[in-house]
Amino acid sequence: MRPTFVLRGVRVLDPLSGRDDERRDVWFEDGRLLAIDARIDKGGVAVIDLDASGGRHGAVLSPGFIDLHAHLREPGDPDAETVSSGARAAAAGGFTQVVAMANTDPPIDAPERVAEACAHAGGAAVRVLQVAALSRGLSGSELTDIRGCIAAGAVAISDDGRNAATPRLLVDALRTAGASARAVLVHPEDEEAIAQINNAHGSVVRCAQRPPGTESRAVDLAIRALAHAGAGRLHLQHLSTAESVETLRRARDGGLAVTAEVTPHHLGMWQPVAQPPEPAALLKVNPPLRTEHDRNAMVHALREGVIDAVATDHAPHRRVEKGADYDSAAPGMIGLETALAACITIGGMGGNWLPALVERLTAGPYRALGAGSGVFEPRLHTGEPATCVVFDPDAEWVVGAEPSASRSSNTPLLGERLRGKVLLTLVDGRIAYHDASRLQLAAETAAHA
Ligand SMILES: [Zn+2]
Repeated sequence: MRPTFVLRGVRVLDPLSGRDDERRDVWFEDGRLLAIDARIDKGGVAVIDLDASGGRHGAVLSPGFIDLHAHLREPGDPDAETVSSGARAAAAGGFTQVVAMANTDPPIDAPERVAEACAHAGGAAVRVLQVAALSRGLSGSELTDIRGCIAAGAVAISDDGRNAATPRLLVDALRTAGASARAVLVHPEDEEAIAQINNAHGSVVRCAQRPPGTESRAVDLAIRALAHAGAGRLHLQHLSTAESVETLRRARDGGLAVTAEVTPHHLGMWQPVAQPPEPAALLKVNPPLRTEHDRNAMVHALREGVIDAVATDHAPHRRVEKGADYDSAAPGMIGLETALAACITIGGMGGNWLPALVERLTAGPYRALGAGSGVFEPRLHTGEPATCVVFDPDAEWVVGAEPSASRSSNTPLLGERLRGKVLLTLVDGRIAYHDASRLQLAAETAAHA
């Protein structure tokens, strides 16, 4: 459906345009954003007044969010998530573009698989941007056909979930991807050190002991590889330690092309938590939740922009994968539908930090991927089909009270009351998500038709 209506009294936040205007009226016609003005009166067009009902700060209109980091589990585990269900969860969270990781089963590690994945995602509720693996089978031993994967549609290169590639392989990947204007996304955890600490012989993905040094060392190695490559762009995924932030800061001060993301859970949760969820493995995530000192460092780095983007690391798992004891449970939690609210409520990004948060959900991730990578510019263009989100930063809701779009429910936030609710998500002028209980869109537009 391509709706026609006037939104009354919203705050318009458009970071790339430098725009932060209170109390604007916004006119949509057949899904096109026609005008933003102090007052718009169009006879016969339904008016949705968010000024009166929006609470203290009022509702916000911004370009659609971009999630740099999601696991959509297809192919391989459609009971946990599919591209379709993951895309609907993204839309419910205000995301209009979502970057799908390559560690599916089989992994997306060849041009044919990239092409298949892109074709499969074509009908999804939001734009799904596909990552290609850096190494065959994510094993770290042999580079994929990076040029071929990019030609087939890959938006970036990453072995996320694993970090087995040697620095030399990473240098090659950075140069090759960089020549095609693509970033390499690195999951910075030192697999060798984790194997030793846990006395593990096979995969280290489920190992529970992952002290801060295993991340800091991997961050340092990746940044050295970038310096050595002398080309390309590096993006560090889900940073979690204060030391990582300092290493990142030095690299950026030194002029290196490195960006970074933080997850809502590393912004909002730390160990030990007051009341662990049941089962406790709902808190198990790679990298793990750290100390309050680390968490504060993450919030500070995101506020000042040393960390460029909030990324969910949405990691759906079937119940049985999380019901096991902590040590053998799968790592990760879902996050697409709760990202905005978690950042506002427990992640230190509410109130006066809202414009910064919107920047880190739109322009920041856009910068990390880079113009020309295939990501769409997150900007409110008048006259064009709208790709945007309307949210109420003050509206409260309880996680899980209404059915979620995701096929999985592995989040420690289940049952929590959060602030910040997405009301409407438009993609190319079509309604991708609509909270009908808070925004009477269909009824009002129909009544005025
Ligand atoms: Zn990861």
